[in-house]
Amino acid sequence: MTAIGVIGLGKMGRGMALSLKRAGYRVLGFDVMEPVCAALTAEGIETVATIGAIMEVAEIVILSLPTAEIVETVVAGDSGILAHARAGAVIVDTSTSHPDTTRRLAGLVAAKAMSFVDAPVSGGPKGAITGTMTMVIGGADEDVARVMPILEHMSAKRVHVGPAGAGHVTKIINNLLCAAHLLTAAEAMRIAREAGVDAERLLEGLNAGSGRSGVTQVNFPSWVLNGAFNSGFTMKLMRKDVRLAERFTGELGLSLPLAAAAARIWAESAAMIADDEDFNRIVELQLGPTGRSEPS
Ligand code: NAD
Repeated sequence: MTAIGVIGLGKMGRGMALSLKRAGYRVLGFDVMEPVCAALTAEGIETVATIGAIMEVAEIVILSLPTAEIVETVVAGDSGILAHARAGAVIVDTSTSHPDTTRRLAGLVAAKAMSFVDAPVSGGPKGAITGTMTMVIGGADEDVARVMPILEHMSAKRVHVGPAGAGHVTKIINNLLCAAHLLTAAEAMRIAREAGVDAERLLEGLNAGSGRSGVTQVNFPSWVLNGAFNSGFTMKLMRKDVRLAERFTGELGLSLPLAAAAARIWAESAAMIADDEDFNRIVELQLGPTGRSEPS
């Protein structure tokens, strides 16, 4: 039986570990937070106290970690994966991370006869636990082919977009677009409110036309207009992703006025909307407390 390690057992990693266990794999989990490990143990996942203990048995290691810096520590730090390198093992980083970190780590890992695949995800905690996430994948063809049977148990859609790092480039662009679309869709709703058009009817019209986006098709109906705001993705994470996009595009030397305006609004939102709130709450900057846009 293939043994799979999952490092980072938070909202996403927990669901991935449980999906893989359900698919029949031996799953070993590791997280720096002891209560997080204890909760997963109670759900039937074998948790271990060190990354070394994962590397003793796991051929595939899934990462689901908060930031690129933490991914770097977990892979290349003193007691990290490379300190316990296992020839032939493949690291699959599902975190939303920096492409340069990914490329650098892919090089370090290759020097120890291991491989690195970036497979950042969308679909939220629900997608993780139901194995229905979407993945944009970066990596060498042979490495991606090797982990594909495992990725198929974690996701409903997978797009291999290029070599190591390409998945993270794509994910950063995707989340930048989603962050910007939330702002523009909220402004659209505001226009409709002032012009006396009902929010639900507006959405129906937009979604039949070329102005639609994932935000008008999914976010507004699922989490905004019904007041649910329970997507599982927080303001903190989206602000992190927007900062990551700003940093990455700056490093590329690009001047992107719309992206810069979106980044400023998301950064300033920290003074108004708490880190642990649902990321769709950003629409309230334009639409007020419930996000609903009733005709006036
Ligand atoms: P989370 O904060 O719930 O979980 C992260 C886990 O990593 C925590 O349990 C934390 O204790 C653990 N951790 C931190 N440092 C560690 C270390 N050095 N070693 C081992 N474990 C460590 O975050 P999440 O919502 O599960 O997100 C994980 C990643 O997935 C992020 O990069 C995020 O941007 C991305 N993502 C999240 C969502 C979502 O809806 N939550 C959707 C798509 C992508």
